[in-house]
Amino acid sequence: MSDIELKRCPFCGCESWEMTHKKVFPDGAWGYKIRCEKCGSQGCWWHTKKEAVDTWNTRPEVDRLEALNAELVSALGDVANYTKNKTGRTNKTIYEYAQEALEKATGDEK
Ligand SMILES: [Zn+2]
Repeated sequence: MSDIELKRCPFCGCESWEMTHKKVFPDGAWGYKIRCEKCGSQGCWWHTKKEAVDTWNTRPEVDRLEALNAELVSALGDVANYTKNKTGRTNKTIYEYAQEALEKATGDEK
């Protein structure tokens, strides 16, 4: 199992997990399931080890927040660059940069 890389448990942050492999499907097929050893959170039964690992490691909310954070960092970098180089590559005001950053952060478009 050492070839498997799993993200921390999304609920407790624990890195300790167990994978169960047994006959679970109605047709007699074997399945894989990952379970956190600390809090007991677990994934569904999957036909392949890869499916079990991939779904355990899928974190759409984390991905969304990381993308949002990248946008915010980029927008703040623009603000910093603007304030550093006031002679300006643009006519935007600091307020406008900040407003764009806020719109990206909140998802509100004007
Ligand atoms: Zn857990």
